[in-house]
Amino acid sequence: MLADALQRYWGFDTFRPLQEPAMRAVLEGRDSVVVMPTGGGKSLCFQAPAMCLPGLAVVVSPLISLMKDQVDALKSCGIPAEFSNSSLSMSERQRVAEAVRNERVKLLYVSPERLVQERTIEYLKSQKVSLFAIDEAHCVSEWGHDFRPEYRELSILRSNFPHVGIHAYTATATDRVRKDIVKSLDLREAEVLVGSFDRPNLVYKVERRRSGLGQVLEVLGRHKGESGIIYCTTRKDVESLHGALLGEGIKSLPYHAGMLDEDRHRNQEAFIEERVDVIVATVAFGMGIDKSNVRFVMHWGMPKSLENYQQESGRGGRDGLEAECWLFHSGQELMRWKGSLEELPAGSVREAAFQSLQAITNFCHGTVCRHKVLVNYFDQELPEDSAVSCGACDVCLGQLDLMPDALIVGQKIGSCVYRLNQQFGADYTSQVLKGSKGERILQNQHDQLSTYGLLKDEAQRTIRDWIEQLAGQGFLQKFGEYNQLKLTDTGWQMLRGQATPRLLKPAEKSKSKREAAVSVDSWDGVDRDLFELLRKLRREKAVAMSVPAYIVFTDATLRDLARRRPTTLDAMRHVRGVGEKKLADLGAEFITVIAEYCREKNVAADVTPLSSVATSIGTTATGGKTISALSAARLFREGKTIEQVALEMNRAVSTVTGYLSDFIQNEGLSDPAPWVPAETARRVEAVAREVGLTLLRPISDRLEGQVPYDQIRIVVDCLRVRQNLGDFPTP
Ligand code: ADP
Ligand code: ZN
Repeated sequence: MLADALQRYWGFDTFRPLQEPAMRAVLEGRDSVVVMPTGGGKSLCFQAPAMCLPGLAVVVSPLISLMKDQVDALKSCGIPAEFSNSSLSMSERQRVAEAVRNERVKLLYVSPERLVQERTIEYLKSQKVSLFAIDEAHCVSEWGHDFRPEYRELSILRSNFPHVGIHAYTATATDRVRKDIVKSLDLREAEVLVGSFDRPNLVYKVERRRSGLGQVLEVLGRHKGESGIIYCTTRKDVESLHGALLGEGIKSLPYHAGMLDEDRHRNQEAFIEERVDVIVATVAFGMGIDKSNVRFVMHWGMPKSLENYQQESGRGGRDGLEAECWLFHSGQELMRWKGSLEELPAGSVREAAFQSLQAITNFCHGTVCRHKVLVNYFDQELPEDSAVSCGACDVCLGQLDLMPDALIVGQKIGSCVYRLNQQFGADYTSQVLKGSKGERILQNQHDQLSTYGLLKDEAQRTIRDWIEQLAGQGFLQKFGEYNQLKLTDTGWQMLRGQATPRLLKPAEKSKSKREAAVSVDSWDGVDRDLFELLRKLRREKAVAMSVPAYIVFTDATLRDLARRRPTTLDAMRHVRGVGEKKLADLGAEFITVIAEYCREKNVAADVTPLSSVATSIGTTATGGKTISALSAARLFREGKTIEQVALEMNRAVSTVTGYLSDFIQNEGLSDPAPWVPAETARRVEAVAREVGLTLLRPISDRLEGQVPYDQIRIVVDCLRVRQNLGDFPTP
């Protein structure tokens, strides 16, 4: 029944992780708390059961803009939904009430303040209510990042509707918030379902912010024509970055709490309706934005907590397709956040805030997989197959510029901390290492220390960064009122040469060797020109229907259309995200455009992709293959053998050989040395000179099966590279 509804209204043929148990809890009328990361598909958890149950589902949603979007999206799938809030006129409200009375509504969205009014409660009591869904349920908790007092009053639902299931949905991860939700809403034996917080389709990259616009422009350049959000930490930064982008001829719009409501609203609409690609904003922007096809989220400055970072970066890639999350940080923000936290009243809230600030600082200076750090922070582990390498962060992609002599640098810093009797903080310690003639240092006679000036050729800022990196990796620990530094056990091991830290090269010396954005399988087989054409059509339809573009079709659907290129309604039915209503409303027009395009460009139509591409969150998510190939490439670059890589990645040798083959071609390697013994390579080459490089079989035959196929393949790959260079005869 659920699966039918999923297919019929939404055109989806599988459940996302946890969706099925979450829906079952709703059907059974059991209270539930469902925690899923942004984009995990929470809405469907109550929307699909609402279509299977008799009566009216009541959905509590905190923001008016969100409500309208969700209701529009539902209507576009043929689901009778309405909303009721203060933005409606009297007559509109009456129309909605009447529709509810006549049982013509399956889902009703209301704001919490309206729902808890006595009138509303009494009215709903006279109706058949199938379920209550509380969206953004973390708003009930003071520990959440977005406490809303009106959410507290939702506790009256339980006593007024003893026989109706109440279901809470949130993306916020902490256990404390979860418990708070159960308590505040007075849930009974709630089914608590917590999904993985990992967002495998987000590619995290962290860099120190350099002066100028270079870093921003590089990211924008890779996402031309795509939607993205740039977060700044202050209004002033928003204004100046927005201005600077204008100067570069880049269209963006600003958004912050200091602007007039109507301006803000207009800019937000322009972004949602894709009249502008980039929005430059403070954290004020985001809640209530349901836009699913945000392809990059950039932080131009460090946010104030790891929770914030998770939330804000999480606005990318909600459709399950890849999105890049760039974090550019500088020391300035740390100082600023510290300053503002110091103004909080002493107590556990303030303490927690400082801890979160430390967590994001460590994240910035970290050299451990970003996905791992994030999920560990929320007390989870990465799924097994990405534990070695997630393949979707700068660390795992091998894009960090590491110091070759990190151990020695680490030891210099560690011994300085020790010489200073573990009594001083990072700033002072870095000054001593730099060899500063500061008054305090001279007074303390620390210019006499053997470690004074040990790193005098480095910028003090660099030394400070290294100290943060050592702290982040557990070699040093900060303690006491002034964040004095001391050596940990691991720190002592480092001094003895038994443990090696990973330190980043100074920003100014590091040549940016970033690879192109991870090209993920989800573009496999997609005809880009057709995609652009369909995007245009989507925009036209969106304007005509006055809904945001992604409500017409998501990016995922558009790509699937441009991949399968259906020219009949029947073929279009197989495209992900095309349900019956959309097929009826939009099918004819889309297939006409597709058919015309295919005819004109002589492109094959009605294609069935060989392997259906995995793009859904939680499964192979980012499309395992290319991502794995990238991780493998990193290991090959380190000179690892096929067996080692297979072991580390937990993949079959034959699979890894395939990756190696790609790696050799991509990197243009002409020497199979690390992977094939020299003597074997010579034998294969000699035979290949005679029989050519087209097929492996004749080579293997001539060698009488003495050389394994995999090795022949690698040698031949290298020879093909040489052939292209004119260094090997072409038959
Ligand atoms: P959340 O509320 O958890 O952030 P949404 O409910 O907005 O997430 O869903 C995110 C995206 O995933 C939407 O584009 C939605 O259509 C899509 N989606 C949800 N469930 C499925 C599914 N079972 N199969 C394919 N896509 C899905
Ligand atoms: Zn990683």
